[in-house]
Amino acid sequence: MDLSKRAFLEAAALLIAESALPRRLAGSGRPDPGASAPRVVVAISGGVRMLETFSPEGFENIPHLVHDLGPRSLFFRRVRNEGVTAHFNATSSILTGNWQRLDDWGKLPPATPTVFELFRKQLGVAQSDTWVVASNKALTNMIGASSSGNYGPAYGANVVFPKQLMVTAVAEALRRGRSANMADRAKIEAEFESMLAGSNYEGLGWTVFDAADRLDPRTSAAIKEALAKFVQGGPTSGDELTFLVAREVMRRFAPHLLVVIFSDVEVAHFGSYALHLAGIRTCDRLMYELWQEVESNTDYRGKTTMFILPEFGRDPDGWATNGFFNHRANEESTRTTWMMALGAAVSKPQIIERPVRHVDLCPTIASLLGCPALEAQGERLAELRA
Ligand SMILES: [Zn+2]
Repeated sequence: MDLSKRAFLEAAALLIAESALPRRLAGSGRPDPGASAPRVVVAISGGVRMLETFSPEGFENIPHLVHDLGPRSLFFRRVRNEGVTAHFNATSSILTGNWQRLDDWGKLPPATPTVFELFRKQLGVAQSDTWVVASNKALTNMIGASSSGNYGPAYGANVVFPKQLMVTAVAEALRRGRSANMADRAKIEAEFESMLAGSNYEGLGWTVFDAADRLDPRTSAAIKEALAKFVQGGPTSGDELTFLVAREVMRRFAPHLLVVIFSDVEVAHFGSYALHLAGIRTCDRLMYELWQEVESNTDYRGKTTMFILPEFGRDPDGWATNGFFNHRANEESTRTTWMMALGAAVSKPQIIERPVRHVDLCPTIASLLGCPALEAQGERLAELRA
């Protein structure tokens, strides 16, 4: 990514933090559990195969995971998705500890409580202390809270979709802008819309121009100008903005539980292997930058455990569903991936050979955060110290 794009995205992340995040702090609850209480960061990526990641052929795509993070991690070498290998089912299984069999497109909330609800209800934690920052709105809209009668949205997380917020902020800036040249404005808006549509993974998502967020008019002109430069630079990465907003959330709100969901790798559905590999490399770099923030941010350093894992693999080459394009096959390549744990709960770096499951993560996170044991299909991972 070139520097001007990065600079634009950093500005956009700040703008989003200014204009949209504070409004999301509504919600009841006592003040946070204390500055010294343990914190958990979970970074989830879309589907990546072992072949392109933790295999001799794949190492070159993930230099940071292999060389910078791997040697200090508890590395689970066999992590099974035994549920439905679709995005929403995977993330909601990870975050509830139960295999969820919901609508593949994320139109229904998880059926059992998420770790956010457990943490908030059992420990009386405020909503501002639990966040999800996700690249793909359509597939993660309902991830913040379950439909469980005893829990639900009253105990849910703040969920933000930076790319959508940027669309909204920019659309609003354009609407309110006092540009003398309407033709230019229309052109910028059209380019912006097509840029977003171009990374419209899964054929859903980012063309929504309907929300009513308000921007400070003083910033409108500057954004418009930055945007005009930005759209001329070609396609961009939704994950980059997701990372920048997640980092801003850490700096402003220091939540005890933060989940970041990246999805650039899902460009694979469009059939470009080169773009899929580029998505893996971006994700590798952003996961590392997220860890660097944990290590340099005084609210997080020394008391945070970070987990890194993909939602699932992808189909094997030669499969009827077109190999890496998809993630539907009931095969090792699709079901078995890996997970890395870093930080406070890791007593010594090592490789764990025994197979573990996605549903084991939620009880583990709950235990690290000090929640009483929960009833779930998953089991706490004993390799992590409480
Ligand atoms: Zn997908």
